[in-house]
Amino acid sequence: MRTKQFKAESKKLLDMMINSIYTHKENFLRELISNASDAMDKLYFRSMQENLALNRSDLFVKIQPDKEARTLIITDNGIGMTAEELETNLGTIAKSGSFDFKNGNEKQDDVDIIGQFGVGFYSAFMVSDKIEVVSKAYGTDEANKWTSKGAEGYTIEPCEFDGNGTVITLYLKEDTEDDNYSDYLEEYKIREIVRKYSDYIRYPIKMDVTHSHLKEGTEDEYEDVTETAVLNSMVPLWKKNKNEVTADEYSEFYRNNYYDYEEPAKVIHTRMEGNVEYNTMLFIPRHAPFDYYTKNYEKGLQLFSNGVLIMDKCADLLPDYFSFVKGLVDSEDLSLNISREMLQHDAQLKLIAKSLEKKIHSELKKLMKDSRDTYEKVFTAFGTQLKFGLYNSYGTKNDVLSDLVMFHSSNDKKLTTLKEYVERMKESQDTIYYACGESVDKIDLLPQSEAVKEKGFEILYFTENVDEFAIQMLREFEGKKFANICTDNIELDTEEEKEELKEKNESGKDMFDFFKEAIGDSVASVRFTNKLKNHPVCLTTEGEISLEMEKVLNSMPMNEQKVKAEIVLEINANHPIADKLTSLFESDKDKAGEYAKILYAQARLIEGLSVENPTELSNMICNLMI
Ligand code: ADP
Repeated sequence: MRTKQFKAESKKLLDMMINSIYTHKENFLRELISNASDAMDKLYFRSMQENLALNRSDLFVKIQPDKEARTLIITDNGIGMTAEELETNLGTIAKSGSFDFKNGNEKQDDVDIIGQFGVGFYSAFMVSDKIEVVSKAYGTDEANKWTSKGAEGYTIEPCEFDGNGTVITLYLKEDTEDDNYSDYLEEYKIREIVRKYSDYIRYPIKMDVTHSHLKEGTEDEYEDVTETAVLNSMVPLWKKNKNEVTADEYSEFYRNNYYDYEEPAKVIHTRMEGNVEYNTMLFIPRHAPFDYYTKNYEKGLQLFSNGVLIMDKCADLLPDYFSFVKGLVDSEDLSLNISREMLQHDAQLKLIAKSLEKKIHSELKKLMKDSRDTYEKVFTAFGTQLKFGLYNSYGTKNDVLSDLVMFHSSNDKKLTTLKEYVERMKESQDTIYYACGESVDKIDLLPQSEAVKEKGFEILYFTENVDEFAIQMLREFEGKKFANICTDNIELDTEEEKEELKEKNESGKDMFDFFKEAIGDSVASVRFTNKLKNHPVCLTTEGEISLEMEKVLNSMPMNEQKVKAEIVLEINANHPIADKLTSLFESDKDKAGEYAKILYAQARLIEGLSVENPTELSNMICNLMI
């Protein structure tokens, strides 16, 4: 029989497991039990769909320690595996993709490596020298045995097996100074581990236990009696009363089921009553999974019908903007025999989705109020998704999302909500000011920011591509309009100042036309402004498209037709450069034209745009120097 090699990544992982210094080695049992429970779920679900004569109460896991043989046997009568399934499931790692293994010797005590990578079955190599898996797939007659001593590879061969399902035999490692593997053969230890990690498993986890009992009819004669004990309470965690569940149990459940190494930022555990009744347990993660912002990420909640898993990732239960939420829904109102296609049109499911959305919304708001730091962490991880939600829903979800989004602002550069911004607004202020740019610091340095801040107005800093698009869908917040301080519709001036500027612009009309001519088509017009304090120039736009939007839209590969913002070059009317230009326009038009070009190039650089003709700019500046 040929020994097959593990795939490269699986081998790395195996090595790590075999040489593990991981302190929670006992987790291997949780992993094997949860695989067994999944296998029974699958079998039961299939029996419901195919009307097979199967009793849920016949399904169980059995643990058999054998001290003499130093083996621990875990048996289940679930769906089992064919030879091919043994090959694909145990020859490679199901959930690869995120591996970035540190050297096996490095200290990794604090990280739940198993939970992090979803390596399940392989964790048994932390405690075993050799593993045998005998399995028979439901509906077939042929059983197979998978055997592996770890790194060398594995073999698969047909074998005899009377039962159904899967029998996993672990040949435990010899005890060492640090690790007493014999513990895993002790009744008390097995009971403890099962209660700690697998209590909620909905199938009985059985073990034969032998105790001495007083012999009946005697007063001092004892006999050994063996009976089968059920080690777990079998009440699913979500069916328990909230006050019976500890924070640790929630975390353990979350990490075990949803492959995270951190505890959740928030747990939502509730029973909904009304039009549709269900139990739900939801988790808000603290950080984004590595594939969250890729198309590989699948959103969804586990869907149970009266304790039976009917779908592992029911996408219809979550809107895209809450796609980061993990967890499950268990409802008595759903039919078990429902197919995926039917489920999509199921009215009950739609009602559940709607009430979940409301619940998640209100719980996120609560988190923001009660635990600001945690909310900010969650927002940092998933805020972009919420903003995409605003944009993609064309304004229909403004009420759900507008009070969840946050932006950095000139108020200490901290994150703020729109509501908080509005609460801080000056009495006379009727506009929410924002500016776009690459980073908070860059926006803070924009010439336009200075004057707005100087007048005591707060500015929201839009650093993400989606920000301005999202805000456009919002249109206004609590009756206040939004204004980009870099476009021309902000009015900070008094009536006199406005009047004065208007006059200056009118009398300089010829000069501005001349400047526009000199600069060329890339500007729509040139004019004086009052909105700059110490800086000489800035760019602004007219019309719908801002500079930031032009940048974003033109960077999208599918946009063949490039959009163009109507750029206006604004010159600080109160800066010495304004007088200089005016007098040069009278005395030396060519020079005035060159200056206008230089100023325009400067303004582009300040905006983070490239200069159209850097060579020309360099020559012009050089000419000024010599
Ligand atoms: P995961 O459980 O995270 O998918 P594992 O490495 O633990 O990863 O298991 C890989 C696969 O092997 C499982 O997805 C399942 O298909 C199969 N498997 C493992 N244990 C059993 C079992 N007891 N019965 C049936 N299939 C199993």
